[in-house]
Amino acid sequence: MPAGLTLNARQRAVDAFYAEHGPCCAGCDWWRYVNSVAGECTRTVPVAGPQRFAMLGIEGASLDPGAGHIMTPRDHLCGEFKDESPCPD
Ligand code: SF4
Repeated sequence: MPAGLTLNARQRAVDAFYAEHGPCCAGCDWWRYVNSVAGECTRTVPVAGPQRFAMLGIEGASLDPGAGHIMTPRDHLCGEFKDESPCPD
């Protein structure tokens, strides 16, 4: 996905992925996308920087990203999935 996507285009890409794949982070109310393929799960408390990106397969990053919510790929699904928001157009 091109980096220059507008916010609305990115939201549409995330919504389209959810519509096509069913329950997953992309459609979860706890998820805040960072780009069209990865985002933060706000369901749990923040963690230390190196742990934030482990689920994306990133280890030993040379820069410390700082503490924050866990990043997950859009197709991940866990037992805390929730979608109580209105369906996108
Ligand atoms: S499906 Fe699970 S991991 Fe993904 S955003 Fe929702 S609560 Fe977080």
